[in-house]
Amino acid sequence: VKRRRLTPTQKAGIIARQVNCCGCGCGGDLEGQAVEFDHMLPLALGGADTPENMQALLPDHHRIKTRDDVRRIRKADRQRRYHETGKSHQHRTRPIQSRGFDTTFKRKMNGEVVRAD
Ligand SMILES: [Zn+2]
Repeated sequence: VKRRRLTPTQKAGIIARQVNCCGCGCGGDLEGQAVEFDHMLPLALGGADTPENMQALLPDHHRIKTRDDVRRIRKADRQRRYHETGKSHQHRTRPIQSRGFDTTFKRKMNGEVVRAD
């Protein structure tokens, strides 16, 4: 996904919208801090790459937010995969190689062991 850079005016606008407070809700003052900008709804979850979807965060709080986002994105991926395949886990495309156990006999559904054809 192509991310647009915020202009200084857009950054100032976002900070002003948050009344100089960290966007995470901690109430931390952004004044004089190394502010980082974050997509409130991550792009990977369909968020828009617009100033309206951006928030200014203190760097430490941005890291926490990003960690949570990654978790949400992974969860969304799992849910999408489950929806598409009915499988909750990704399976190997090839079965694990057998260690050469005896295939002369096979067990039928009723538990009876018969000689394989
Ligand atoms: Zn914060």
